[in-house]
Amino acid sequence: MPQDHPTLTRRNLLKCAAVALPLVPLAVLPSRAARADAASLPLVTPDDAQAKALKYVPDAKTSKDAKPGSHCGNCVQYQGASGSAQGPCQIFPGKAVKSTGWCSVWAPQM
Ligand code: SF4
Repeated sequence: MPQDHPTLTRRNLLKCAAVALPLVPLAVLPSRAARADAASLPLVTPDDAQAKALKYVPDAKTSKDAKPGSHCGNCVQYQGASGSAQGPCQIFPGKAVKSTGWCSVWAPQM
């Protein structure tokens, strides 16, 4: 009786590994591309309507509402690399915020 499914043999596993392993570096490319895109994102400006609604400021020290020490760089919504000057924020899709910035959505990273 012919088998409908190939059997799981060591040979089949090795064939799959031989095909899959060279693709691993390709899986890294999107994150590099995303980082490159992050650098080219336009910065949120305080006069942006959403920024005004959320009291965004590019320098947390200038906000009377920001808790001392809170800024975009240590906010859970910030998606920039650690130590970056600016990066994407989940609250402002398609735009970047200054790591020194702050808005009323700020919440600490875990
Ligand atoms: Fe900054 Fe967080 Fe507000 Fe985004 S949500 S602008 S990272 S404080």
